[in-house]
Parts: sequence; structure tokens; C-alpha cells
Amino acid sequence: MSPTINIAGQLLLLALIIGAGALFAVRTARLYRIMMAGAPTTRRGDEGTRLRRFATMVLGQSKMFEKPAIGVAHFLIFWGFLLLTVSVVQIMLEGLLGGFSLPAIGRARWFIAANDIIAALVIVSLLYAAYRRLRVRPWHLTTQLDAWIILGAIGAHLTALLLAEGFAAAAFGNEGYHWSLAGAALGGPLAALGPTGARIGYVAFWWVHVLLILGLVTYIPLSKHFHIITSPLNVYFRSTRPKGELPKIENIEEAEHFGVGQVQQFTWKDILDGYACTECGRCTAACPATLTGKPLDPKKIIVDTRLATYAQAGVRMLGRRETRAITPETPLIGGLIGDDELWSCTTCMACIEACPVAIEHVPKIVDMRRNLVLEETRFPPELTKVFNSLERNSNPFGLRARTRADWAKGLGLTILGERPDEPVDVLYWVGCYGSFDERNVRVARALSRVLRAAGINFGILGVEEGCTGDPARRAGNEYLYQVLAQGNVETLQGYGVKKIVTACPHCMNTIKNEYPQFGGDFEVVHHSQFIADLLKSGRLKLDGGLDKRAITFHDPCYLGRYNDVYDAPREVVNGLGAEVTEMRRSRNKALCCGGGGARALMEERIGKKMSHNRLDDVLETGCGTLAAGCPFCITMFEDAIGSTGNAERVQVEDLAELVAARLPKESAGAAAAD
Ligand code: SF4
Ligand code: SF4
Repeated sequence: MSPTINIAGQLLLLALIIGAGALFAVRTARLYRIMMAGAPTTRRGDEGTRLRRFATMVLGQSKMFEKPAIGVAHFLIFWGFLLLTVSVVQIMLEGLLGGFSLPAIGRARWFIAANDIIAALVIVSLLYAAYRRLRVRPWHLTTQLDAWIILGAIGAHLTALLLAEGFAAAAFGNEGYHWSLAGAALGGPLAALGPTGARIGYVAFWWVHVLLILGLVTYIPLSKHFHIITSPLNVYFRSTRPKGELPKIENIEEAEHFGVGQVQQFTWKDILDGYACTECGRCTAACPATLTGKPLDPKKIIVDTRLATYAQAGVRMLGRRETRAITPETPLIGGLIGDDELWSCTTCMACIEACPVAIEHVPKIVDMRRNLVLEETRFPPELTKVFNSLERNSNPFGLRARTRADWAKGLGLTILGERPDEPVDVLYWVGCYGSFDERNVRVARALSRVLRAAGINFGILGVEEGCTGDPARRAGNEYLYQVLAQGNVETLQGYGVKKIVTACPHCMNTIKNEYPQFGGDFEVVHHSQFIADLLKSGRLKLDGGLDKRAITFHDPCYLGRYNDVYDAPREVVNGLGAEVTEMRRSRNKALCCGGGGARALMEERIGKKMSHNRLDDVLETGCGTLAAGCPFCITMFEDAIGSTGNAERVQVEDLAELVAARLPKESAGAAAAD
């Protein structure tokens, strides 16, 4: 579908294509160069996983379908864009070469008809996108001028395409390769303009269509819509390492800098994340910190990374209204991103889970915390005590290390260091909360009773156990974390430990996913998984008698989103003869309690408390028991329930406590007397 253009027209078209292509190439190359100047990170290998992820997330647009209407609209825009790209190639070549046709499809009726259908559907989808921005106005979706330019330009070029076909049908008849649905629909009415009028209309709209496309090509690298090129790459290059593993600072003693204080210190993949962000705001809508009025907005963190990168490259983004003046000298932290934003993060990973283009927010936030802690010595005052205590006593509470095993006094548990010649099958990793915190000591004792009742040959490290280092690492003190991690790995290897059970998802995540960075290779399971297996195998029998609908379960972030353990806790509740009454946000959508990322050890001074926000979800279920599977969550909820005066309405119980309370009399007695 192209007008018969004379040689001058062909030369003009050629010049425009070369000009637009050159501008696109120069702008993209500049952005590519600055991306590749970022710190190295390996994203090779595991191609099978990468390709599968690409197929589901990019080609299948799987994340978008979590909201069906938006999913359908986006699916059409995405696939329409691909098909129409082929059509654009056909149109350009036909214009340049006169009568050229792509082999097999260029003049195929089905191809021209499919183009028209897709173009019409994309126009409808664009209208829906505009309606959403103008009328629905989701609070997390900020619309910059940029978005209107793109919506308008795509809508206009497709409308021009359909009109050109209508005029072509009016001028030349809608037969042969000109046959099109738009031609069939519009050709008749437009024929009223007469052959000359129809011909002029055809040529005019053909050129409008072509010029808008070439305009878009030059505009895209200067806008957030660069994501149409970068987001598929971003999905492909997303880490295939365990989700809960933070990158290690190698050779920390010799490191020239710690973490990220300037945008160039991010890895090239972090910079690609910035290019790939569509600004959809899904991460913002899922963030417990944003939802409770904290200054943190995960979308802003990513957009700021991009703005800083563009400023460094000397590229000015178009169609944006920035209230801040951003120059290459604007500091990343303390300039673009405030300290409070970084310290508000609980590392819950809800943002990563929500993002349709696989952007990884948490490692960036922790990298900037590393810079604040290890280079700037700038962090919330509570962390001074936490770091000192971790250093001296290997727990964050300031309690003496030698009292770590006091909770087990009188229980007759095997302590590995005291009975080196009696190997155990399983090590129970108690963690700092289970060892020192009065409320969580009850959980440790309950789990010990359960393991005993099932006849498990288990032991503990006692005073040789140390903090895994999770709070230090998530708070940015990588140096301290590495000291703690190294010590624990050596202790565990010294006792030949193979299998570990723990009631703390943070300990589980660190030992399972991060200790391999120190040569520690252990099989680690959460106690919910261990107990669920014991119930399934019949090694553990429980008395029923619970109200079937009395229990709701809060998915801990480090168990669910970090390690994909969702079913085991529910199976344990089923084993109690009950069913989990789900909260409106559960499983991978569960809202964080506010305790992760060392937040449980800091004051929450800004906005509503995150634990209160989550407690609202709990109370909404009407359940009297909130089952938990994480000491941080238990601590946060106990505080929220107490301070909001809801102790009469709901009680928080660890899964181990619920199970221990329903051990049949004979096994409970045996467990206690053992
Ligand atoms: S990890 Fe959680 S708290 Fe941090 S930015 Fe993401 S959603 Fe917000
Ligand atoms: S980071 Fe992901 S979820 Fe957040 S705005 Fe960007 S594309 Fe959307």
C-alpha cells in the first residue's frame, strides 16, 4: 500500500529514513555506552530458564494478565506492535523501491486484513489506556506528557494508515493487493470526493503515516518508551540466582568503594532496569512502605536511577515535567534519593514480584544502604547498637552471647559441642529471636517438643550458634555480615552438618541462599515444611478439634516471595483439622508486617505502622488466631495487637505452637519427659 511516488519523493523518503535511523542509532549507542560503563555482573548461563521466562513474561505477557482488562489491552498493543512493524517495513520498502513486496506476505490478503484488524484493536486499546489515565486515574499511575505523546502518535499513525487504505480503495478500487477491511469500509464513502480528491487524500495520509513512524523512531530513545526495546532484554537478563541472594562484595578488604553512591557504580543490569521501567506503578501499589505513608516509592527509585543515567550521558528526556533540577553533579543519594527513602524499605520484595518487566529493586536499595553505612557512616541511630551488639555478642539485642542457649535449660536437648561423638540427623537452627526474645523462646520450646514427639534425632549449636548476619547485610553492613557468615559456615562445617531446620525464614534464606557464597552448602528447610512432611508420613499425629475457620495465616515475605514456600504452612493448618481463612492479600501478594530488612530493629517514625496496616487485613477475616511462621512477624504482630487494643479479638501463634498444643497426650508427655 504505497503511492506511486516519483524519484524526488523516493529520495526524500530515503533521506528521512536514513536521518531517523541515524538519530536513533546515535542516541541508543550513547545510552548503551553509559550502560556498559556500569559495574560488571555476570548474566550468562541458564539459557533454558531465561528463554522460558522470556516466553511467558514477554511473548505471553503473563504478569500483565494479573489484571485481565489491562492484560488484554497490553497483549494487543504488544502483538499489534510486532505485526505492524512488519507492515511498516513493507510500506517503507514499497515506497522506496516502487512495487516491492515482502515475499509471501507483502501482498497477501490475509496480511493486509490482519493489519487492519490489529490496527483497529490497538486503537481501541489506546483509547482504553487514555480513559484509564483520564477517568479511572489509579493513584499509583502518574502520567507525564511523554505518555500522551506516545499514545497520540501511535493512535495517529494507525488512524492515518487506515484512512490511507480507505482513500486508496476510493482512488484505485479495493481489489488486488489493495484489498483491505478499511478499504472496504471507507472506500465507498470517500469515493464521493472524486478520483483526484481520493488520490490526494491517499498520498497525504500515506506521508502522515510514514512521518509519524519515523518521528517515533527518533523520539523513543529520549522517552520512557525506550522500554519497548529494553524491557524484553531486561526480562532475559534477570538473575537466575536464588531470589533471596544478595550480591556479595568480593575481596571486601581491598574494595575501592562500598555499595553504590553514584549511578556509574551500579551494575550495567541495574542501569538496564532503569531503561526498562514502564512507570506502570505496580511496584508502588504493592509497597507496604508507600501504602503507609513512608517517603519510599520503589518506582521513583528506579526512575531516579534512569534520570541520573540520562543526566550522566548528557541526554535530556523529552516530555517530562521535573520539579527537580537534575544535572550530572546532582548526588544520587541525598540529591535524587533521600536517606529516609532507603531506610524505609523492608526488603519484602513485593515490588519485584509485582513488576511486569523483571526489575530488581531490592539489591539496588541495599547497595545504596551499603554506601551510607560503610562509606558515609550515615544510618538511623538504633543501628549503632545493633551493629555493636552483633559484633560483640553475635545477636542484635545487646544480650550476652553466653546466654544464647539458656532457653533450652532443662529440656535435655543435644548440644553438638557437648556431645561431639553423637551425630544428629538434623540441626535445629534456633536464631537470635528464638534464643533471646521471650515471646519467641516459647516457639523454640514448642518446636523442640514437636521434633521430640516425632522421634527426630536433632541437636542445636547452643552458644556456638551466631546471628546469621541477615540484619547486618540488609542494613548495608556487608563487612559485618561477612564476618558473621564466615564464622557460622566454619562452625556448621566443623560439625559436618548436612540438614538444617529453622523456624526463622530470614535464617533459612541466608543459610540456604547466601552461605553458598562462603562455601556453605546445606539443605535448609522451614519448620512448616518439616512438620508438613512429618504429618504426611504419619510420624506426627495430632488431635483435631479446632474450629475449622478460626485460623488465618500471614505469609512471611522471606518464606513466600523469597523462597516460594506457600503450601507447607497451609498443610500444617490442615493437619490441625482446620483450613486457612485467607486474607484478601495472601501468598505472593501478602503485605509485609514491616519487620524485614532490619526494620524490626529500627523505630518506625513516619506514617502508619506497617504492622497495623497488615493487622487490618487480619481483623477483616474475623479469625481469632493468626498463624505465623516467622519470629519477626510474631514480634511485629504482638506489638500491633497490643498497641491497638485487639488482644481480645486475635492472638498470634507460631505454627509450631499450634502443633505442639495438639500433640496427643502420650507423645506430648514423652516429649516433655525425654
Ligand atoms: S522491598 Fe518492599 S518495602 Fe522495599 S521497596 Fe520493595 S515493596 Fe517497598
Ligand atoms: S519498576 Fe516495574 S512495576 Fe515499578 S513502575 Fe517500573 S515497570 Fe512498573
